[in-house]
Amino acid sequence: MRTIQQTPFTTAEASRATVSGVACPLCAAASQIVFDKHGVPIHECSTCSHRFAQPPECDGHVERVYGDDYFFGGGAGYDDYLSESALLRAHGLRYAKRLARHIEPGTVLDVGAAAGFVLQGFCEGGWSGQGLEPNDAVAKYGRETLGLNIHTGSLEDFSSAEPFDLVSMIQVMGHFVDPREAADKVSSLVKPGGHCLIETWNVRSWTARAFGHSWHEYSPPSVLQWFSPETTTALFGEFGFTPVAKGIPQKWLNAGHAKSLLRHKASESFLAKLASGAAAVIPDSLNLPYPSEDLFWMLLRKS
Ligand SMILES: [Zn+2]
Repeated sequence: MRTIQQTPFTTAEASRATVSGVACPLCAAASQIVFDKHGVPIHECSTCSHRFAQPPECDGHVERVYGDDYFFGGGAGYDDYLSESALLRAHGLRYAKRLARHIEPGTVLDVGAAAGFVLQGFCEGGWSGQGLEPNDAVAKYGRETLGLNIHTGSLEDFSSAEPFDLVSMIQVMGHFVDPREAADKVSSLVKPGGHCLIETWNVRSWTARAFGHSWHEYSPPSVLQWFSPETTTALFGEFGFTPVAKGIPQKWLNAGHAKSLLRHKASESFLAKLASGAAAVIPDSLNLPYPSEDLFWMLLRKS
């Protein structure tokens, strides 16, 4: 069994760590509570160092967290999701170009597709695809206004007669109540020799370690799982996937969205309050580069 000194705890976290009796959702080993965020205990696995939170109640988690407020109500989600369409399309196209170094375009399922702007970017890059989105209002927008094949529903309940060449999950893994069930489901939806693209936050990044419990991605109950490239590789490895490539995404953020996030965080820390005040002068329509050291993407191939 590992000692506290071998975990990525900061000294302050280590002094507060308590054995929780809650099993790690990745490897089933025991976990310790490292701190509380928004009144929710954040656990760290004593074996694989995965960090996670348990949702207050499992039933209806997806519907509750991804209601219309997530896309249009500010807070931890979007101030106005539709205003980010061009940035999201460009993000999808960047991935299509980056993946072209490793794989031929084919069929893609974008999980957590929202209205499908990222999917549109993939399609511009030669892919043909479908999206899966729990929020019916944005999924309907994608179907009716953008003419895309977006299904309303969760990954757990989705099935397809034809498996896909690629399943993409861009900033989705952190939201699952049961990440093993999600990885198993993804594996069943990918053809043998097909791929899975993950983009998620890196709990072992310099930024996450430096900010400790103030790191912006500790935002339960919307986010419940905090991965690293190592834990992602281990989890998907159990379901037949091997990493092919990984990197740090280039990301742009709409200033209106950044300001909305900062306003949401201003109540939590003095630094965020200062930043929120300073950012108020930036026009909402401006696109800002996001320093994405704490994000990573990984392309994995199914054997
Ligand atoms: Zn574990």
